[in-house]
Amino acid sequence: MHKKLFIPGPTEVMEDVLNVQAKPMIGHRSKEFSELLTSVVEKLKRVLATKNEVYIFTSSGTGVMEAAIRNCVKNKVLSLVCGAFSKRWAQIAKACNKEVATVEVDWGKAIKPEMVADALKKDHYDAVTLVHNETSTGVRNPIEGIAEVIKEYPDTFLLVDTVSSLMGDKIEIDKLGIDVCLASVQKCFALPPGMAVGVISERALKRSEEVTDKGYYFDFLVFKKYWEERRQTPTTPAISLIQALDYQLDRIEQEGVENRYQRHREMAEIVRGWAKKFFAMFSEEGYHSVTVSAITNTRGISVADLNKELGKQGYMISNGYGKLKEKTFRIAHMGDLTKEDINDLLGRINAILKLEG
Ligand SMILES: *Cc1c(COP(=O)(O)O)cnc(C)c1O
Repeated sequence: MHKKLFIPGPTEVMEDVLNVQAKPMIGHRSKEFSELLTSVVEKLKRVLATKNEVYIFTSSGTGVMEAAIRNCVKNKVLSLVCGAFSKRWAQIAKACNKEVATVEVDWGKAIKPEMVADALKKDHYDAVTLVHNETSTGVRNPIEGIAEVIKEYPDTFLLVDTVSSLMGDKIEIDKLGIDVCLASVQKCFALPPGMAVGVISERALKRSEEVTDKGYYFDFLVFKKYWEERRQTPTTPAISLIQALDYQLDRIEQEGVENRYQRHREMAEIVRGWAKKFFAMFSEEGYHSVTVSAITNTRGISVADLNKELGKQGYMISNGYGKLKEKTFRIAHMGDLTKEDINDLLGRINAILKLEG
């Protein structure tokens, strides 16, 4: 039996979207493909409301994190760490031989603009890395305030992992001055995994011209060349997924992006209300994610057993991340899930745990 996914990636994929992947193959150097990619890129720019370049990467989102570091950081980077994925930014930067400084807060807490301001006063960085929506802790970092601080340092770029929020939570990429904004397609885009979207600023492309040792596969300038000359990708892309993305973007436009964001906020409200009634939110008050809720296991339930019972009914939630495995559990409300889906799930959890709903 298929288990409906309420986990923070991969998310549940609609059947019609899955089926688009069964379309016949086309050559990636054909005119047909150039038209497909052009269509996808135009739609992405529209739904994301950006004038920046949009490239499709045949890798998961982490690949574009690495790309962002390799193309935009000459020497030093400041990583804002509040959980597992924001820590990954720092690990990637170190692995790419960059000098890394961090601002760190406890898991469950958000990075505050003042912390970034303090760090930037003390030293110069080529870039700051941020995870907008820290999936491991359910924290939504205050990107608006953080971006404002970074704007005071014109040579310091803003690299943002929006893997679990882009297309579910409104992010004003251009207004915030995000230089690299990246997301995997298996989260709020609600597609199968295997591809990532990168929104790259003009000055990030300029910076890339000045940076060496970028490798080839993730060199933004190679993407730029293939896009400008042929409306294609440098290497063979995940064509079936691009076909599905083209279709999914039509669905998103039919729903309306603002409606999509509103639906996510409403789903989050329902889960938060439930969590506060029966458990507690793990994320700091005022900084709750709108796409995934991390809930503190105040009742000491067995999260594994709960998921086993849910599994028998065809549902799946997520345990806590890493060290939070049984201390928290996570309910994702991202992608194409609806309020009805969420209420249905919570009703089942209430029945299993014998909570008075
Ligand atoms: C899922 C996730 C990642 C990792 O994405 P991959 O597609 O597995 O590379 C990175 N950052 C955040 C915030 C995530 O939620």
